[in-house]
Amino acid sequence: MDDWRVLITLYCGLLVPLALLNALGFLSRFKQRALGPFGLPRRTQEALGVLQTFYEHAPTLLGVVELDGAEIRHVYDNPAACRVLGVADGRSAGKCEGELGISLEQTRVWRAHIDKSLAQSAPVRFEFSPRNEQFFAVTVCPVTHDGALRPQFCYLAEDISEWKNNADRARIDRERLQVALDAGRLGFWDCNEKTGQVIYGGAWSAMLGYPGDFFQPWISVWQGILHPDDKARVLDILQCALDGKTEHYEAEYRLKTSVGEWLWVSVKGRVVERDADEHGVRHVGVIEDIHERRQVREQLASAARQKDEFLATLAHELRNPLAPIRTGLTILKRDPTSEMAKQSREMMERQLLHLVRLIDDLLDISRISLGRLELKKARVTVKEVVDTALEVSSPFIGANHQTLVVEIPPEEIHLFGDLTRLAQVISNLLNNSAKYSQAGARIELRVSRLGQTVLFQVIDTGLGIPSSMIERIFDMFGQVDTTLDRAQGGLGIGLALVRQLVELHNGTVKAESPGEGQGSTFTVALPIELEPPSLATGTPKTIEPLLSMPRKILIVDDNQDAADSLAMYLRTEGHCVRVAYKPSVALEMVSQFKPEMVVLDIGLPEMSGYEVARAIRAEPALSKVILVALTGWGGEKDKENAKNAGFDAHLTKPVDPAAVQNILSGYFPPVG
Ligand code: ADP
Repeated sequence: MDDWRVLITLYCGLLVPLALLNALGFLSRFKQRALGPFGLPRRTQEALGVLQTFYEHAPTLLGVVELDGAEIRHVYDNPAACRVLGVADGRSAGKCEGELGISLEQTRVWRAHIDKSLAQSAPVRFEFSPRNEQFFAVTVCPVTHDGALRPQFCYLAEDISEWKNNADRARIDRERLQVALDAGRLGFWDCNEKTGQVIYGGAWSAMLGYPGDFFQPWISVWQGILHPDDKARVLDILQCALDGKTEHYEAEYRLKTSVGEWLWVSVKGRVVERDADEHGVRHVGVIEDIHERRQVREQLASAARQKDEFLATLAHELRNPLAPIRTGLTILKRDPTSEMAKQSREMMERQLLHLVRLIDDLLDISRISLGRLELKKARVTVKEVVDTALEVSSPFIGANHQTLVVEIPPEEIHLFGDLTRLAQVISNLLNNSAKYSQAGARIELRVSRLGQTVLFQVIDTGLGIPSSMIERIFDMFGQVDTTLDRAQGGLGIGLALVRQLVELHNGTVKAESPGEGQGSTFTVALPIELEPPSLATGTPKTIEPLLSMPRKILIVDDNQDAADSLAMYLRTEGHCVRVAYKPSVALEMVSQFKPEMVVLDIGLPEMSGYEVARAIRAEPALSKVILVALTGWGGEKDKENAKNAGFDAHLTKPVDPAAVQNILSGYFPPVG
């Protein structure tokens, strides 16, 4: 600003005499003709010569204009001005702005400022841009002298294009940088420890919500919002850098935001100036908002912890039933016909069922999360759901000597859902109530209608649930007490499965409990099905096992126990069964044994079950053989793959031996 004042004073001082000279005619001509070398005192002539040189060689645009009605007419422009106007020296004289190619809009700008300077009898400064990216800082000043017929003004225009363009570019760069800093939630600082002053910018305000000048004086304000638990550590790190032990420093800590919340930030700084004693004076650095990242990190750590806990529980749960099964086997080996052997068999069946349930739950959860669970939805009655659930849960509740009371409305209420899955939801809740209630306790299943919703309530008087856990028990592995005694033989996935299954039926599930030791109520709400949907096809029918003629069956599975036990079962049904553990052996056997049915595992060594199936199908003599695929996954895609490979049927592991018999019966119905 001061530079400008000096310039204006200087140039106006120059221009006024020049304007006076102009009134007498152009300087060069004037000097030569009007005054002549002897007309003026020598000193005046010399001064005019200096002025003329200055005037003609000045890089600044200088000139005189006058008002001619609405026009601005140029009286004189120095060579620099003529160059900008695009005319030869002296050729602008007498021309108005329009004739010199100055736009109407810019002429208006000139006019407004000239009028203002006239009114104020003082220099007025403005910006003039004759063309793109060309800018001049113009000062106009009224000139009064006797020879002028019209109001005249001298002007001085300084080319500020470079400065202006640089300033524009710098502004754009600053804006871009600010956007980047805001987007990255990054701030920077340059702090002087001696003066306590700081220059800072970027996303500080966006991150913390304080006004722009908040951090002055820096040190006390910054320390004031540092989390007390982080303060000593962070100050220590900074001190090490200031003392010269380290040049760079890094820390993660919490700062209090303007609304009183703690925000996790990460800082990376460097000492850039030290005093004579090598003590840090200035340090600069960047600060980054890492709150979300930190939360995600904590969630991941917690998920990893949960997974480890889950694996420990899973190992425990899977091992638990194996011990009694092993003992049972020893008893069976000693005397397979004794009463004890009979009890052992029953016990082994129970344990096996428990194992299968655990694995089924795990598979279901996995299928749901992979989007592979297929619901066989149909129009079902609430009574069907309850009856199916009770078939599973009643024996369990009975075994605990607990009483089950069921209340169900007399009228028929329909749902549109997968009967098995809905029954699984209710039986899971009933089993939990039995698990988490004392022997002899009372458990209720109350079904009621509420508008277009049916409510299933499972009420118990058992252990209850603390309010802090009421939501978390529906999370994967969410258990009130993870000590294995309290886990009661569960993996903490039953309720997660319940919630997902209910949500797949557009319903909700919630838990309520007055507190520990005071029982719990689980409520499932499902939408009632009013009109029979046109697509409803009813529950898929399972084929009842039928006795059929002995058939030739080949079982191919690299899991020898699985293959042998299935073979054993089918032999007890009277079939002629061979077993192959390898695809190569299986292919040999197929051509010699000529089975009517091949039960083929998909995940085999050497070649996949699909390839074996294709090889069998390629043999014309074997075109009629029934091919049954055995896979771990029962998704649509697996079924389609199996079909494409030439399979006739598809079974999901663990295979129920009766299902193989069912398939056979479907192909070879018993006669009579
Ligand atoms: P699991 O029973 O295998 O542990 P669930 O997902 O079925 O897993 O249940 C999660 C947790 O919820 C249980 O570990 C238990 O702490 C709590 N819970 C579930 N049902 C009840 C109930 N009826 N009474 C008390 N606590 C329950």
